[in-house]
Amino acid sequence: MSIKDNLINIKSALPASVRLVAVSKFHSAQEVIEALQAGQTVFGENRVQEAAAKFDEVKKSYPNASLRIIGQLQRNKVKEAVRIADAIDSVDRLELLDEIEKQAAKIDKKIQVLFEFHTGEESKSGFDSKEAVFEALKKIASGLCPHVEPKGFMTMAPFTEDKNLVRASFKKLRDLRDECQKAFPDFDLSELSMGMSGDWQIAVEEGSTMVRIGTAIFGARDYSQAKKD
Ligand SMILES: *Cc1c(COP(=O)(O)O)cnc(C)c1O
Repeated sequence: MSIKDNLINIKSALPASVRLVAVSKFHSAQEVIEALQAGQTVFGENRVQEAAAKFDEVKKSYPNASLRIIGQLQRNKVKEAVRIADAIDSVDRLELLDEIEKQAAKIDKKIQVLFEFHTGEESKSGFDSKEAVFEALKKIASGLCPHVEPKGFMTMAPFTEDKNLVRASFKKLRDLRDECQKAFPDFDLSELSMGMSGDWQIAVEEGSTMVRIGTAIFGARDYSQAKKD
């Protein structure tokens, strides 16, 4: 099946309220363009250098392509991430928030962020405590990060066949979102980025507003050419 067919199939199965992030990591600029030609505009990448090379090229002919960074981000990659992306969905520590603000201020760009929260035993990334997320939101609420716009939360469910564990992980993120929204009513924290190729149906049932799908759109990734980012 083509990228276009895959996109059509997934979109027809997604409720209209759920946005699709096409995860194009390890796939070429040409494949991204194929998706753009089929009407997909939002893409996710987890390695900044790979994403920059690819999207600098893609945006020459498709300036409407929108990129979200979804992978763990090192401090020294933030400058480039802020330049190429419209959103950073994997903010997992306070230090990162400071660096995003600093780099976004330099180029006077407003950048959306999601807070990644650790909800399952097997995945390691993300904020570990509700308190830490609250601290980050407090910092933004106090006006210290005027270039950062918090929009919600992101998580990766554990890689397991046990659907109950996957569902519990998504529920946990939704509960966190509800608590944070209540505590910070001036922000719109409605976004829940959860669900990938293998578990997006469960994520949607649990309130996902944004699924991140790679394999089911672009096919299997070829890691043999992987460069260190
Ligand atoms: C790679 C990746 C995805 C997409 O995974 P698939 O299983 O290929 O759909 C989603 N989210 C994150 C954070 C990823 O790194």
